[in-house]
Amino acid sequence: MVKVLVAAPLHEKAINLLKDAGFEVVYEEYPDEERLIELIRDADAVIVRSKPRITRRVIEAAGKLKIIARAGVGLDNIDLEAAKEKGIEVVNAPAAPTQSVAELAIGLMLAVARKIAFADRKMREGVWAKKQAMGVELKGKTLGVIGMGRIGSTVARIAHHGFGMKIIYYDARRCPKEIEKELKAKCVSLEELLKEADIVTLHVPLVPATRHLINENRLKLMKKNAILINTARGGVVDTNALVKALKEGWIAGAGLDVYEEEPLPPGHTLTKLDNVVLTPHIGSSTLEAQERAGVEVAGKIIEFFKK
Ligand code: NAD
Repeated sequence: MVKVLVAAPLHEKAINLLKDAGFEVVYEEYPDEERLIELIRDADAVIVRSKPRITRRVIEAAGKLKIIARAGVGLDNIDLEAAKEKGIEVVNAPAAPTQSVAELAIGLMLAVARKIAFADRKMREGVWAKKQAMGVELKGKTLGVIGMGRIGSTVARIAHHGFGMKIIYYDARRCPKEIEKELKAKCVSLEELLKEADIVTLHVPLVPATRHLINENRLKLMKKNAILINTARGGVVDTNALVKALKEGWIAGAGLDVYEEEPLPPGHTLTKLDNVVLTPHIGSSTLEAQERAGVEVAGKIIEFFKK
């Protein structure tokens, strides 16, 4: 009997799909490395989310493992090289969180541009901060999308059609002509994007080429009234440089869902700044995205063992 270790919360529909396919499902939420090593010994498949980490040690302990499934997009918690060496297939659900992450990016833009989180904090303190909460509109502003893939182009679509924003983008590859035409989107260099955009939103994966893509020099290229949104991966931004930029007013504000260190350490400088809105990596935390991701990877696992 195929044994599937579900090591992270998974939508009920997905669990039922696996059970209906005749698989044994063992569920334990986010086991630590030692516990995972115990649990994975006789598993044929494992399902994770952004946690737990499937390290080389875990992979080496897995005697029967044939497939690792990530119910979501990013594979940075999986040692892909170790999996490849052992011939273990790795699958994910790349499109499942697209809409949810895009909507969060838009939410962060609005929260920073209209100082929503700041105003809410003040209200709770009993302060009517009407003057301090003066904001800016999104309409007519230029949105710079770094990484015009699934999420980036969805953000661009909402921003263009919903808010009348102008779209410029930077990507290693030119995006399809139909998308450029639909969104009147212009492909520019990174430098040009940073200099021109009123809002910069990050949607590149974290790979060696994108680590600290947004560093001190590049933050200095941005407009003083610009807003940076990061719902991609924390490592794409040099946090120390960003803190400096926010404190010294090189840019106006930032909306962040992801951090170089997660969870963000309590009392981190970012939590002391009023011009930044922080969420705890909730980009794909919607009922719809979880359901899509779970069902998609369950389907891929079933398909895999059928073959
Ligand atoms: P995608 O693959 O569709 O798009 C990524 C884009 O980045 C592609 O167009 C690609 O060409 C471009 N790119 C890659 N490397 C580049 C480089 N070095 N320079 C310039 N461009 C480069 O991926 P997606 O589905 O849009 O997801 C984007 C990222 O969002 C994921 O990698 C993931 O890290 C992040 N994400 C975050 C959450 C969250 O909870 N906040 C959830 C899902 C995904």
